[in-house]
Amino acid sequence: MRRATTIFAALLGAISLLAMRPVSSTTDGSSGSPQASQAHNAVMKVLDAVSPDSLHAFDLKLVSFGTRHTLSDTTSPTRGIGAARNWIASKFSQFAASNPDFKVYRDEFVQPVSNRVSVPTTIVNVYGILWGKEGPSGRYIVLSGHYDSIVGNFMDSTADAPGADDDGSGTSLVIEAARAFTSSGFRPDANIVFLCCAAEEQGLYGSHHFAEMAKQKSWNIVADLNNDIVGGTRGGNGVLDNSTIRIFSESLKDLQIGNRKIPASVFGYESDSPSRELARYIHVNAKQFLPTFKTDLVFRSDRFLRGGDQTSFNEFGYAGVRFTEPNEDYHHQHQYVRVEDGIQYGDLPQFVDPQFVANVCKVNSSTAALLSISPEEPQNPVMLVDKLEYGTRLKWKNPHSEAVSGWKVYYRETWQPLWTTSAFIPNTATGDEVEANLPELSKDKFIFGIAALGTNGIESPAVVPIPER
Ligand SMILES: [Zn+2]
Repeated sequence: MRRATTIFAALLGAISLLAMRPVSSTTDGSSGSPQASQAHNAVMKVLDAVSPDSLHAFDLKLVSFGTRHTLSDTTSPTRGIGAARNWIASKFSQFAASNPDFKVYRDEFVQPVSNRVSVPTTIVNVYGILWGKEGPSGRYIVLSGHYDSIVGNFMDSTADAPGADDDGSGTSLVIEAARAFTSSGFRPDANIVFLCCAAEEQGLYGSHHFAEMAKQKSWNIVADLNNDIVGGTRGGNGVLDNSTIRIFSESLKDLQIGNRKIPASVFGYESDSPSRELARYIHVNAKQFLPTFKTDLVFRSDRFLRGGDQTSFNEFGYAGVRFTEPNEDYHHQHQYVRVEDGIQYGDLPQFVDPQFVANVCKVNSSTAALLSISPEEPQNPVMLVDKLEYGTRLKWKNPHSEAVSGWKVYYRETWQPLWTTSAFIPNTATGDEVEANLPELSKDKFIFGIAALGTNGIESPAVVPIPER
């Protein structure tokens, strides 16, 4: 504790000077370094490999299986969900052949009879992992989409259910991202999982099983980037928008303080779940790579009457967000393919814009790449509230890592949606804790978040400090 106090005294002057600087990527001195431009170039190389033509071809292939209904044929080599999952696995195997760090897996189980599953059914999630330097005990970043499809009658397993947008778009995005990462020679620290989920439409069964398996294996999943309906640019409302993607994120219900669960609303922390910090992270960082493509943050877990696989990850305590096109067209979702009163119904490939999916793929890929080479989030961040005082004192665990150049203490007024300001604290700490004192900033007025900044100029998402008495 004495050591931490000394550090705090040394830092005090620096923080007072930096405390009121606006949020900017140049507050720390590491951006612009050779290491930072090397990291930036590695990410750019992945994004450059993303191809609209390839995305379009993958989507057409998925549609060619006729239906990918969870209860559809599994024996035909050309029609039904069996053929679809075998094809996805074969694509992943093709990428694995040229990249020894990439491996292909199947997460297979039998779903008993339930609401939307009429007979016990084998459900298969197909996924590939680009193993990072951290190995199995390290962090995991998941890119997900669901490859099953449905029509108007949720139990109809034989009718054509092209699912080009829902969720051929998300599935082809995941496969294309795997192709881009493996072909560009990107070497992550954390592991990147490319997950094609099954049985989303029948009740999120695939993703639930996967997230449960991950929890059982103690996988440290830091993000699920779930892509579901990410291909349409013209909405049923007539609006054309090909430069915005919506990102949905859940709010925070409770804070775990010691052995007590306290409602987040007690501290005004409802908008600071790990999922929402992830959404903010995507919003700020995607701009560096796609300056004209907008990320529209929606602070709710999903649209009304709808759900998605990110919820399964959230249920098991993992941060996860949902990407969805800005204006949906309900004529194309969960519909039998038909023309009625001159209107084309059905989820057909002509309503998916490959250039748009490519941009969403780049938002996902840049986020996954940055997260995979960022330092770990600050551990055990705490805000000291043991007495009445005018300023704010924070502390967190010192990771003793030379790869951490320092920490950014973000803050914003409670009514602001995004971080507005940050203070930089260099990594000079030698004790087991880093302590930051912000005497001019009242903890009653601001919300704080702490992010770790790497010597490569890449930072982690922010994490809010838990009040400690
Ligand atoms: Zn869907």
